[in-house]
This record gives sequence, C-alpha cells and structure tokens, in this order.
Amino acid sequence: MPTSNPTTRRKTEQRAAIVDALRKNDRAMTAQELHDLLDSVGLATVYRNLGRLAEDGEIDAIRRPNGETAYRACTAGHHHHLICRNCGLVVELHDCSLDDWGRKIADKHGFVGVEHQAELLGTCEKCANRS
Ligand SMILES: [Zn+2]
Ligand SMILES: [Zn+2]
Repeated sequence: MPTSNPTTRRKTEQRAAIVDALRKNDRAMTAQELHDLLDSVGLATVYRNLGRLAEDGEIDAIRRPNGETAYRACTAGHHHHLICRNCGLVVELHDCSLDDWGRKIADKHGFVGVEHQAELLGTCEKCANRS
C-alpha cells in the first residue's frame, strides 16, 4: 500500500501542492516563485517535481523572454500560449490554425509526421494601459 508509506505520502502531497498552486495562478511560475509560495517544499524538490510533471504532460513549460523557464497547469489538448512579456500573464489559445500551414510546408519538402510549437509574446491590456 503506497499510501501507508510516510515518504511516499509526503511526495504525493508535495506534488499535489505544486499542481494546486499552479492551477490557482494565471501566470506561469518559476521554481523559485513556487518555492517562495510553498515554503515547506525545498527548492530542489520543486525543481524535481516540475521536471516530472512537465514530462508527464500535466504542466506546460513556458520560456520567458529573459530565458527563465516558468510552468503553468494548462487544460489538456493542443494549444498555444499568449504571454505578457511584462507581467507574465498567460492566455491559452485553443483555436490553432497552424496545422494547414504546417502540412503545406511539410508536403513541399517531403516531410511526414510534422508537429509545431509556437508561443505569442505581447503586452497585456492591463500592462499596456499602465504605460
Ligand atoms: Zn501584463
Ligand atoms: Zn497549434
């Protein structure tokens, strides 16, 4: 019974706390920001969990303009992100029109199994109004 093992239970709780914190936040968060928020979870543990959660596809890794990696608990399915370069707000974009374009390019070059990744960077309404 894995739940009777205190170490396993603690690990499950830490993972759940990280996912929960990400779900409650519209912004993507870095490992450091999560560690500051959940001060009972060590930074190394936060890093380890984020890596695993991203591998499992439970969270998305988002690269900030300054090169930092931040994480967000997005909904399932193919989507893109619209990211505010000022405050880090993330909007999920579920209507993707890149597939047709990708297929056309792939056909032209004889590629099969083509996937794409794209993120849009901009300044959100709030930040644009502040300046
Ligand atoms: Zn903003
Ligand atoms: Zn797409």
